[in-house]
Amino acid sequence: MSENYIKIESKANIKNLASIRLCITSFLSEINIHFDELMDIKTALSEAVTNAIDHGYLENDDGIIITEAIIKDDEKIILKVVDFGKGIEDISLAMTPAYTSKPESEHAGMGFTIMESFMDEVIVDSRVDDGTSITMTKTIKKRKSN
Ligand code: ATP
Ligand code: MG
Repeated sequence: MSENYIKIESKANIKNLASIRLCITSFLSEINIHFDELMDIKTALSEAVTNAIDHGYLENDDGIIITEAIIKDDEKIILKVVDFGKGIEDISLAMTPAYTSKPESEHAGMGFTIMESFMDEVIVDSRVDDGTSITMTKTIKKRKSN
């Protein structure tokens, strides 16, 4: 069994989203992954990181975010996004499609739905005033043709 990982600690600033995406996609490109699947994973990752910034820290960039990617046996990808912010009171309500606690802003309440549709599994662990961790897994199916 082989395992490789990368872990990024960043400030919870939306300016860092591009760097996090770039770093994780570059790390995942080491395995034989199809472009379409890489794009799906990148989208799910962006939703989780954006949530940590917008909801975990309410767009106040004092907090930190830990983003981790793990590759197991060159085919199973695990992404973790952790914040130490406000936490989620009701996880099943938060994960309901079209639910948002910020209807007044540009949020559509679709972040978790997107994560769940692009990844095989999404596990949310959260405590109010303690933070939230999102663990997403996907076993890649398609391979790049060389
Ligand atoms: P969209 O993703 O479409 O912009 P959204 O962010 O409100 O809208 P989801 O990403 O599905 O929708 O998240 C649903 C709700 O879960 C959020 O409105 C927020 O209340 C809560 N939530 C999600 N992630 C976090 C987090 N890291 N910390 C605290 N609350 C969160
Ligand atoms: Mg969201």
